[in-house]
Amino acid sequence: MSKEIFPTIIVKDSAVLPDSFQNEMRVREENAKVRRAHQDKQASMSKQGVGVDGSIARLGNNNFIKNDAPRLVLTYRDYHNQQCIAEATMVPKLDKPSEVEMMFTLVCLKCVNRGVPMAEAQLMVRESHRKFWIDDRPQHKRPQFVEHVGVVNPAGVVSTKDTIRCSNFNCGWTIRINDSVVEEI
Ligand SMILES: [Zn+2]
Repeated sequence: MSKEIFPTIIVKDSAVLPDSFQNEMRVREENAKVRRAHQDKQASMSKQGVGVDGSIARLGNNNFIKNDAPRLVLTYRDYHNQQCIAEATMVPKLDKPSEVEMMFTLVCLKCVNRGVPMAEAQLMVRESHRKFWIDDRPQHKRPQFVEHVGVVNPAGVVSTKDTIRCSNFNCGWTIRINDSVVEEI
């Protein structure tokens, strides 16, 4: 199972980003819609016990994929509070593909701002590599209005224990996430 995951960057201040970015953002959102529709289908199939394969049946049992991929609304504090909608997804573990773990992806805004295509500016955060947790208490799941997207129901807020570093050449962007607020270190 391989699945492309592209978070959506919500541009609050388009002047700080390259022109091409707005278009790319729209394409990503379209792709995300298609993907969510597919996941909905998978979820309803597994509810009926008609899993396509074992992995989908397992995913169907997970709270996080009942209707929609859980969405996280990240705020980049050091980048004009721009927001990024990231989806958390269950993926096979790299070292043990028969088991799954949670992963979410965010965009390195430093890379994006220096012209790296968004698809190559992805930081994939896997549970097994970087400890993170999603606080899904009701106060963190209130619907949120996000510019260009509308109302989003976040799955909760995400926090990381460790720092996350962009591994792209010549970048070194290092962050920590507290309650979905991305802070540079
Ligand atoms: Zn980077």
